[in-house]
Amino acid sequence: ENRGPLRVLFLSADTGGGHRASAESLAKQFLIHYPGSNYELLDIWTPCGVYPYRTLVPSYQHLSASPKQWRVLYHASNTLPWEILMDLHSTFLCEKGIRKRIAEYDPDVIVSVHPAMNYAPMRSAQKLSKLYGKHIPFFTVVTDLGSGHATWFQKNVDKLYLASERLYRLAKRRGGTPDDRIVMTGLPIRHDFTVQADLLGRDRYSAFGKEYQKQVRLKLLPGVDPEKPVILLMGGGEGVGALSEIVDELYTTLVLKGVDATICVICGRNEKLKDSLNNRDWSSVSEKLAAGNRNKRRKKRSRWFGKRPPLQPIVKNEQSGKVDVIGLGFLTNIAEYMVASTILLSKAGPGTIAEAASVGLPILMTSFLPGQEAGNVDFAVEKGFGEYCDEPVYIAEIVSQWLEQPDLIREMSQKAHAVGHPEAASEIVQDIGSITHTWKVLNKQA
Ligand code: UDP
Repeated sequence: ENRGPLRVLFLSADTGGGHRASAESLAKQFLIHYPGSNYELLDIWTPCGVYPYRTLVPSYQHLSASPKQWRVLYHASNTLPWEILMDLHSTFLCEKGIRKRIAEYDPDVIVSVHPAMNYAPMRSAQKLSKLYGKHIPFFTVVTDLGSGHATWFQKNVDKLYLASERLYRLAKRRGGTPDDRIVMTGLPIRHDFTVQADLLGRDRYSAFGKEYQKQVRLKLLPGVDPEKPVILLMGGGEGVGALSEIVDELYTTLVLKGVDATICVICGRNEKLKDSLNNRDWSSVSEKLAAGNRNKRRKKRSRWFGKRPPLQPIVKNEQSGKVDVIGLGFLTNIAEYMVASTILLSKAGPGTIAEAASVGLPILMTSFLPGQEAGNVDFAVEKGFGEYCDEPVYIAEIVSQWLEQPDLIREMSQKAHAVGHPEAASEIVQDIGSITHTWKVLNKQA
């Protein structure tokens, strides 16, 4: 009986790709564990909110493209007075509309995967529970990793799912959430990653893992030597310029140092970048960069500038490295590409970091969004499977150094595997499902 279908309402919004990805990974698990379940993804602010709440998605898109403005807004809104004011103001103006939308769907359970969708909708769920005389459980699954906005953490949720000790400390300090409502788990990532982690044998450098990686490389990169290391670049919020510049520097450094590699660049929906990479005259790019002084190309405003020594001139190898660059569009099989890769270069998105860890892939983070992503950088660095650098010329140097030290890459990979939690979504859903089923029984008896 307690494996029966459930009506699940996810609260999420397309501010970045991670919230939707988490909701979809949880939805997939509801379908696996509670077959016949229905789910809906609701962005409560766009249809039910008033100004400024209803402009959440376009405002985020605009602000996240200007990190300075975003930093100011994030830190200002992450203070207690602002939080109280916004909670009261938004609830006073919009709660009734939100309640109506929730009632229309008539969920068995509400799962929020967004920091801006906790206080007001939880009030709506509580009011509906009173009105109908049945408890609608409300869960928050935090989709951040190393740091999180205070609005994630509410005292009265049925359960709060957290993926790191850093978040646990924040939940205690900022939300006052009691321990019996906190569940320590991993970030919910797509089911694909559980499948791929199993196929790798949870150790990409074991004989079994290496053989599987080879097969995936042959499938994804036909015609490319499967023994060559693969460097995967993911764009995310990274500007086109930086991504393109990183590839130029990487190509040049690897060719000059005589390191063979394949560089795969995920350009998402940026067709222009994809075409430009696939049609670039790589020998003239490397000739031009090789003739210049690398230190003159360093970014003086980098977070880590000055903490790293000046770059030494590259000692040119007699034999040039054989390097292929492949520009790719938006991919739905990121898990396989991560399996095929040796190193990931990406912005510090929580989903991407958790995905990389789940398949034991070391990561070099090349940018982060101030505020919620700063802690992700510290998380991956502290756990020993990540490094941060936002200077394209230095990124190229670090990657080439890593590739010259297979033992280091292997050690980082093992640390990533140790942190990775590919079955987190399944565990979270089974916990939510069993609590919800208990409530369904109690609601019937009441
Ligand atoms: N992603 C994808 N296909 C692509 C590029 C990205 O599926 O071509 C996914 C990626 O695997 C991750 C999500 O988009 O699950 C990005 O989430 P993250 O939390 O890293 O960053 P956000 O976009 O939320 O800032």
